[in-house]
Amino acid sequence: MSDLKQLIREIPDWPKPGILFYDITTLMKDGPGFAQVIDGLVATVQPADVNVVIGIEARGFFFAPTVAKALGKGFVPVRKPKKLPAAVEAVEYALEYGTDSLEIHRDAITPGQRVLIVDDVLATGGTAAAVASLVERLGGIVVGLSFVIELDFLNGQSKLGGRPVHSLLHY
Ligand code: AMP
Repeated sequence: MSDLKQLIREIPDWPKPGILFYDITTLMKDGPGFAQVIDGLVATVQPADVNVVIGIEARGFFFAPTVAKALGKGFVPVRKPKKLPAAVEAVEYALEYGTDSLEIHRDAITPGQRVLIVDDVLATGGTAAAVASLVERLGGIVVGLSFVIELDFLNGQSKLGGRPVHSLLHY
Protein backbone atom coordinates (compact mmCIF):
# COMPACT_ATOMS: atom_id res chain seq x y z
CA MET A 1 0.00 0.00 0.00
CA SER A 2 2.83 2.42 0.80
CA ASP A 3 3.71 2.70 -2.92
CA LEU A 4 0.26 4.24 -3.36
CA LYS A 5 1.56 7.24 -1.43
CA GLN A 6 3.92 7.93 -4.34
CA LEU A 7 0.85 8.46 -6.52
CA ILE A 8 -0.79 11.00 -4.21
CA ARG A 9 0.17 14.60 -4.93
CA GLU A 10 0.77 16.71 -1.83
CA ILE A 11 -0.09 20.38 -2.18
CA PRO A 12 1.08 22.66 0.63
CA ASP A 13 -1.03 25.60 1.73
CA TRP A 14 -4.15 24.61 -0.23
CA PRO A 15 -6.99 25.55 -0.01
CA LYS A 16 -5.55 27.81 2.68
CA PRO A 17 -2.24 28.44 4.44
CA GLY A 18 -1.18 25.65 6.81
CA ILE A 19 -3.16 22.85 5.12
CA LEU A 20 -1.25 20.09 3.34
CA PHE A 21 -3.79 18.87 0.79
CA TYR A 22 -3.66 15.24 -0.36
CA ASP A 23 -4.71 15.30 -4.02
CA ILE A 24 -6.03 11.86 -4.97
CA THR A 25 -6.68 12.78 -8.64
CA THR A 26 -3.09 11.77 -9.45
CA LEU A 27 -3.74 8.36 -7.86
CA MET A 28 -7.06 7.89 -9.63
CA LYS A 29 -5.65 8.47 -13.11
CA ASP A 30 -3.19 5.60 -12.56
CA GLY A 31 -5.00 2.40 -13.59
CA PRO A 32 -3.18 -0.09 -11.34
CA GLY A 33 -3.16 2.41 -8.45
CA PHE A 34 -6.88 3.07 -8.72
CA ALA A 35 -7.60 -0.67 -8.89
CA GLN A 36 -5.45 -1.27 -5.80
CA VAL A 37 -7.40 1.38 -3.88
CA ILE A 38 -10.79 -0.05 -4.87
CA ASP A 39 -9.64 -3.60 -4.03
CA GLY A 40 -8.30 -2.35 -0.70
CA LEU A 41 -11.57 -0.60 0.20
CA VAL A 42 -13.60 -3.65 -0.83
CA ALA A 43 -11.42 -5.91 1.32
CA THR A 44 -12.27 -3.91 4.47
CA VAL A 45 -15.72 -5.54 4.70
CA GLN A 46 -17.41 -8.88 4.16
CA PRO A 47 -19.99 -8.46 1.37
CA ALA A 48 -22.54 -10.37 3.46
CA ASP A 49 -22.23 -7.74 6.23
CA VAL A 50 -23.26 -4.84 3.98
CA ASN A 51 -26.58 -3.95 2.35
CA VAL A 52 -25.70 -0.55 0.92
CA VAL A 53 -22.68 1.71 0.36
CA ILE A 54 -22.80 5.45 1.05
CA GLY A 55 -20.52 8.00 -0.60
CA ILE A 56 -20.08 11.55 0.70
CA GLU A 57 -20.14 14.44 -1.80
CA ALA A 58 -17.88 15.22 -3.49
CA ARG A 59 -14.73 13.10 -3.37
CA GLY A 60 -16.48 10.13 -1.77
CA PHE A 61 -18.34 9.84 -5.09
CA PHE A 62 -15.01 8.99 -6.78
CA PHE A 63 -14.81 5.70 -4.88
CA ALA A 64 -18.08 4.61 -3.27
CA PRO A 65 -20.06 3.59 -6.39
CA THR A 66 -17.19 1.42 -7.65
CA VAL A 67 -16.86 -0.19 -4.21
CA ALA A 68 -20.63 -0.81 -4.19
CA LYS A 69 -20.47 -2.46 -7.62
CA ALA A 70 -17.58 -4.70 -6.52
CA LEU A 71 -19.53 -5.76 -3.41
CA GLY A 72 -22.67 -6.34 -5.47
CA LYS A 73 -24.56 -3.72 -3.42
CA GLY A 74 -26.38 -0.48 -4.10
CA PHE A 75 -24.99 3.04 -3.76
CA VAL A 76 -26.58 5.94 -1.85
CA PRO A 77 -25.29 9.53 -2.12
CA VAL A 78 -25.04 11.93 0.80
CA ARG A 79 -25.14 15.35 -0.78
CA LYS A 80 -24.62 19.02 -0.06
CA PRO A 81 -27.83 20.96 0.69
CA LYS A 82 -30.57 21.47 -1.90
CA LYS A 83 -29.26 18.89 -4.39
CA LEU A 84 -31.57 15.98 -3.58
CA PRO A 85 -35.09 16.31 -5.01
CA ALA A 86 -37.22 14.19 -2.64
CA ALA A 87 -37.77 14.43 1.15
CA VAL A 88 -34.44 14.63 2.99
CA GLU A 89 -32.97 14.16 6.43
CA ALA A 90 -30.32 16.84 7.09
CA VAL A 91 -27.45 17.18 9.51
CA GLU A 92 -25.47 20.29 10.41
CA TYR A 93 -21.92 19.94 11.69
CA ALA A 94 -19.14 22.21 12.87
CA LEU A 95 -16.24 23.27 10.67
CA GLU A 96 -13.16 25.12 11.84
CA TYR A 97 -15.06 28.33 11.14
CA GLY A 98 -18.86 28.09 10.99
CA THR A 99 -21.00 25.11 10.03
CA ASP A 100 -21.85 22.98 7.03
CA SER A 101 -24.63 20.55 6.31
CA LEU A 102 -25.31 17.36 4.41
CA GLU A 103 -28.49 15.62 3.28
CA ILE A 104 -29.73 12.13 2.47
CA HIS A 105 -33.05 11.03 0.97
CA ARG A 106 -35.24 9.80 3.83
CA ASP A 107 -36.18 6.67 1.90
CA ALA A 108 -32.58 5.86 0.91
CA ILE A 109 -32.00 3.69 3.98
CA THR A 110 -34.57 1.40 5.54
CA PRO A 111 -34.45 0.56 9.27
CA GLY A 112 -32.06 -2.29 9.99
CA GLN A 113 -30.06 -1.88 6.77
CA ARG A 114 -26.33 -2.36 7.18
CA VAL A 115 -24.36 0.55 5.76
CA LEU A 116 -20.74 1.04 4.71
CA ILE A 117 -19.67 4.72 4.53
CA VAL A 118 -16.87 5.57 2.08
CA ASP A 119 -14.90 8.82 1.74
CA ASP A 120 -11.49 9.88 0.50
CA VAL A 121 -9.97 11.41 3.64
CA LEU A 122 -10.66 11.10 7.38
CA ALA A 123 -9.35 14.37 8.79
CA THR A 124 -11.03 15.79 11.93
CA GLY A 125 -13.86 13.28 11.61
CA GLY A 126 -16.63 15.89 11.66
CA THR A 127 -17.97 14.97 8.24
CA ALA A 128 -17.92 11.21 8.81
CA ALA A 129 -19.52 11.54 12.25
CA ALA A 130 -22.31 13.67 10.79
CA VAL A 131 -23.00 11.10 8.07
CA ALA A 132 -22.97 8.22 10.57
CA SER A 133 -25.55 10.07 12.66
CA LEU A 134 -27.74 10.63 9.56
CA VAL A 135 -27.66 6.91 8.78
CA GLU A 136 -28.53 5.98 12.36
CA ARG A 137 -31.37 8.53 12.49
CA LEU A 138 -32.93 6.66 9.58
CA GLY A 139 -32.55 3.37 11.47
CA GLY A 140 -29.50 2.16 9.54
CA ILE A 141 -26.58 0.34 11.15
CA VAL A 142 -23.10 1.65 10.34
CA VAL A 143 -21.04 -1.52 9.87
CA GLY A 144 -17.93 0.39 8.85
CA LEU A 145 -16.35 3.60 7.61
CA SER A 146 -13.65 3.17 4.96
CA PHE A 147 -11.22 5.83 3.84
CA VAL A 148 -8.38 6.00 1.36
CA ILE A 149 -6.40 8.30 3.68
CA GLU A 150 -6.49 8.92 7.43
CA LEU A 151 -4.68 11.87 8.99
CA ASP A 152 -3.76 10.21 12.28
CA PHE A 153 -2.57 13.41 13.96
CA LEU A 154 -6.10 14.89 13.77
CA ASN A 155 -7.52 11.93 15.70
CA GLY A 156 -10.73 11.83 13.66
CA GLN A 157 -11.60 8.38 15.00
CA SER A 158 -12.30 9.96 18.40
CA LYS A 159 -15.45 11.50 16.88
CA LEU A 160 -16.65 8.17 15.50
CA GLY A 161 -17.63 6.56 18.78
CA GLY A 162 -15.88 3.23 18.27
CA ARG A 163 -17.61 2.49 14.96
CA PRO A 164 -15.28 0.31 12.85
CA VAL A 165 -12.87 2.44 10.79
CA HIS A 166 -10.57 1.17 8.03
CA SER A 167 -8.08 3.42 6.26
CA LEU A 168 -5.73 2.26 3.53
CA LEU A 169 -3.06 4.92 4.05
CA HIS A 170 -2.03 6.75 7.20
CA TYR A 171 -0.20 10.04 7.47
P1 AMP B 1 -13.13 16.18 8.24
O1 AMP B 1 -14.59 16.48 8.42
O2 AMP B 1 -12.26 17.18 8.93
O3 AMP B 1 -12.77 14.76 8.59
O4 AMP B 1 -12.80 16.41 6.72
C1 AMP B 1 -13.17 15.47 5.82
C2 AMP B 1 -13.28 15.99 4.41
O5 AMP B 1 -12.41 17.08 4.10
C3 AMP B 1 -12.92 14.86 3.51
O6 AMP B 1 -14.09 14.53 2.81
C4 AMP B 1 -11.83 15.36 2.61
O7 AMP B 1 -12.31 15.37 1.30
C5 AMP B 1 -11.52 16.76 3.05
N1 AMP B 1 -10.15 16.96 3.58
C6 AMP B 1 -9.84 17.37 4.85
N2 AMP B 1 -8.54 17.54 5.01
C7 AMP B 1 -7.97 17.20 3.82
C8 AMP B 1 -6.60 17.16 3.35
N3 AMP B 1 -5.56 17.51 4.12
N4 AMP B 1 -6.40 16.75 2.09
C9 AMP B 1 -7.44 16.40 1.30
N5 AMP B 1 -8.73 16.44 1.68
C10 AMP B 1 -9.00 16.83 2.93
